[in-house]
Amino acid sequence: MDAIARSVPVGVVGAGTMGAGIAQVAAAAGHEVRLYDAAAGAAETAVETIFQRLARAVDKGRLLAEEAEDAVSRLHAVATLEDLAGCGLVIEAVVEDLGVKRALFTGLEAVCGPDAVLATNTSSLSVDAVAAELAHPARFAGLHFFNPAPLLPLVEVVSGEHTDAAVADLLVATAQAWGKTPVRAASTPGFIVNRVARPFYGEAFRLLESGRVDAATIDALLRESGGFRMGPFELADLIGHDVNLAVSRSVWEAFGRDPRFTPSVLQERLVADGRLGRKTGGGVYAADTPRPEPATADPVPAAPAAWAGAGGVDPSAPGWSVGTGEVELRPTDGRTAAQHTGGGPRTVVLVDLALDTSPARVGIAAPEHAPKEHLEAAIGFLQGHGYAVTVLPDVPGLVVARTVATLAAAAADAVDSGVATAEDVDTAMRLGTNYPRGPYEWGSALGWDWVTGVLDALAAADDPGRYRVSPRLRDRATAGDGWRDDAEVAERDDLARNAAEAMWSADAASRALGMAVEQVSSGTAVVSMLVRPDMINGHGVCHGGLVFALADSAFAVACNTHNRRTVAQGADVTFVAPAHEGDRLLAVADERHRGARSGICDVTVYREDPAGLETIALFRGRSREIPGTLVPDEEET
Ligand code: NAD
Repeated sequence: MDAIARSVPVGVVGAGTMGAGIAQVAAAAGHEVRLYDAAAGAAETAVETIFQRLARAVDKGRLLAEEAEDAVSRLHAVATLEDLAGCGLVIEAVVEDLGVKRALFTGLEAVCGPDAVLATNTSSLSVDAVAAELAHPARFAGLHFFNPAPLLPLVEVVSGEHTDAAVADLLVATAQAWGKTPVRAASTPGFIVNRVARPFYGEAFRLLESGRVDAATIDALLRESGGFRMGPFELADLIGHDVNLAVSRSVWEAFGRDPRFTPSVLQERLVADGRLGRKTGGGVYAADTPRPEPATADPVPAAPAAWAGAGGVDPSAPGWSVGTGEVELRPTDGRTAAQHTGGGPRTVVLVDLALDTSPARVGIAAPEHAPKEHLEAAIGFLQGHGYAVTVLPDVPGLVVARTVATLAAAAADAVDSGVATAEDVDTAMRLGTNYPRGPYEWGSALGWDWVTGVLDALAAADDPGRYRVSPRLRDRATAGDGWRDDAEVAERDDLARNAAEAMWSADAASRALGMAVEQVSSGTAVVSMLVRPDMINGHGVCHGGLVFALADSAFAVACNTHNRRTVAQGADVTFVAPAHEGDRLLAVADERHRGARSGICDVTVYREDPAGLETIALFRGRSREIPGTLVPDEEET
């Protein structure tokens, strides 16, 4: 697919931070650019700012004077939306307000030719919601640049439900022609970057809230051990906690307040107190005082001779161990040092994860009542290897390991939900957030069993909902390190679909209620239902029993996708919000655990709304397997 020809004019609506940046990129790439803003004079001011930026680039030798002059000659502030007639591509970068964006695109449809491609730069709204009132949504997509657009290479090309594949291809080719690195994403909350990056901040705040590790130590470990360019608090202070919290809140809300995305109470408090970060003179760190030093162990005398020949430390990999008679060092696997030590003869000291074998700093943790000399022996040994050592409290997953495990799980989840390919997720995270390594690749390298181990330990010690492991992630862990989706999973999903179909064809009651199976894979299912007039009570509210029936049907489909006959054994349901006539309800079922003959299944019932999903009910049930299959096993056919 070719990019939009340079001879085709490009329109940009909204001349703020992003609009001005995008206009500069398009003009520098050779297009005539027409920049429109509703605020009088805003487009002219933006054009002037771009001129100055280009002049500075010439002064610094990054751009030739002729190139800057050419770009300037192609860039025009225009006074009305009608001036965008004749543009082949119009990119919207106005305020993040659904109503304003919808009204704008309705106006653009009236002005632009039928072949013009329309794109939104929204960071947090659903592309489908923005497109909801368009007459021709096939030519509409998300084109999500990052700030500052002229400098950052990443662009997420977001396909909505109705986006024509050729339109997405055209935008990918155009972004490439403009010198950007595009990745493809589906229209789901946060697209790739804003969704997958949540744990980077979320885990850091969670640890800080525990009161057991200070901010400077968390930042230092993630930088000096994890290889991240900035620590999460330094970065959030730079971005602004209001902006960061708004993204967290919008992803959390859009996922029906899924506990995996629950925003930090501490960050809410920072925002309420006006401590937004550098722009207000302070956030997590005060701007006018020196940054506190991270916790660093004082030098201890050289490691005792007993360590001689103990072998090397590899804090970037799971599974190694070195020890003396009394102390053993192991990499963290999520469990605490106390759990590792148990009643054993040696004190186990855990080493936090690092990006590579020779980080500047490593974090360690010993059981709370470990003999002081054992901890000192471990510190001395690691200092002897040249590491600065941070002694952490004995918390599950320490600092870097819990961050990387939750990021890898978020990356795998985005891949499994069809948001993007593993390659695009990793590209997006390396370019969009400057991560030292793509989180999916990192999870594969560490082993998905290690990732799920850390999550399971956090779930057991902290919050089972927040750290729950999806069935697909569990599949990766059991399938071993080399798991990369593909054939095996496709085969399992085919079987799941066939089994679900066989079960559903026998379920006349669910079909009579107008339910439909929307999506099926091994251990998961989505079932929908439209609330009809005969389903509501005298108060106009959908009968709880019917919401229960929907959740139960999704539960049954998810449990039976392993091609075993499985029945419900019991369930608890919590009704969160009412549903009304005309609502489209979606029941999303995930099997959380499957034992030899029984399982546990979580179902969330959502109300579908153009702006996102609202949680209606939470349902947790137990299942029991009874002998027999739903479709003949392969060997029987
Ligand atoms: P901004 O506030 O700097 O600029 C918005 C501009 O839109 C203003 O100049 C305003 O006058 C104009 N505007 C408002 N309503 C309009 C209308 N109906 N018609 C024409 N112009 C109108 O905002 P921004 O930071 O540039 O963000 C713009 C969009 O880009 C938002 O959707 C935002 O989510 C997204 N985005 C922002 C960033 C970022 O870091 N700032 C990054 C990626 C995406």
